[in-house]
Amino acid sequence: GPDEMAPHLETWTSNIHPDDSAQVLRILHDHLEGRRNRYVAEYRLRNRNGHYLWVRDSGRVSHRDAAGQPTRVVGMVHDITEQKMLQFKLEDLAANDTLTGLPNRRRGQEFLDSQIALCTRLGLTLGLCFIDLDFFKAVNDEHGHLKGDEVLHAVAQALAAATRRSDLLFRWGGEEFALVCPGASLEEMQHVADKLRQALRAMPWQTSLHVQPLTASMGIALFPLHAREGRALLDQADSALFRAKAAQRDRVEVADDGPPAL
Ligand code: GH3
Ligand code: MG
Ligand code: MG
Repeated sequence: GPDEMAPHLETWTSNIHPDDSAQVLRILHDHLEGRRNRYVAEYRLRNRNGHYLWVRDSGRVSHRDAAGQPTRVVGMVHDITEQKMLQFKLEDLAANDTLTGLPNRRRGQEFLDSQIALCTRLGLTLGLCFIDLDFFKAVNDEHGHLKGDEVLHAVAQALAAATRRSDLLFRWGGEEFALVCPGASLEEMQHVADKLRQALRAMPWQTSLHVQPLTASMGIALFPLHAREGRALLDQADSALFRAKAAQRDRVEVADDGPPAL
């Protein structure tokens, strides 16, 4: 209502979300100074209860003084919170795996391809680690699929917690994960894989999950040493993983050195 908020410019500016305010004010000033035809912005605005709403705000200078300076702006603020929540949910469903909350294969492969392109340009290496849990089927067989799902979720969280922010861990599918490490050397990849195995060992298997401890087998491949393209790099890491499985599991294998694929 008209009396609910003090009619000052600060009432508005001080309620824009701090993360959005610089951009919103820049768009407004661009319009006031004639660099934009209209003012339109989507941002978070705090309502009088202290909650943030998503709003779409559009306006235009309606009066200018003799010197051309704006003296009045007319605009409307629409509550688009519901639309935004739906949009975020769809974006989340498209990019993330629902069981583990990790990025899904599609997002992982996009990341891998874009990071290979970046590393090519910058002359950097990139490491890929493929991870497959050992004898995971036994968890389902002994405790049922729901327990299996719970264990998978817990494993994903533990592996993610051991992952650096610049790397991306994603669910490849089933009980298989992949980790992309832009800029990493082969030595660093060995270290990263060891860290993941330690994270698995440290999980509260018996005390809280109530299952036998699980291990994982891993295969590492390095761009550009083992392959120069995402798909081929995944194949190389997968072959290394296959050898880790054949060699009694619970171990890390590196892709075969050979002449780099052209
Ligand atoms: P290995 O050491 O050879 O990898 O043995 P494994 O049992 O882990 O391997 P395999 O690939 O034969 O089986 C993987 C099993 O993982 C099959 C399936 O029962 C289980 N699994 C895959 N995805 C899910 C899931 O989303 N939820 C649950 N509960 N189980 C899953
Ligand atoms: Mg598997
Ligand atoms: Mg497995």
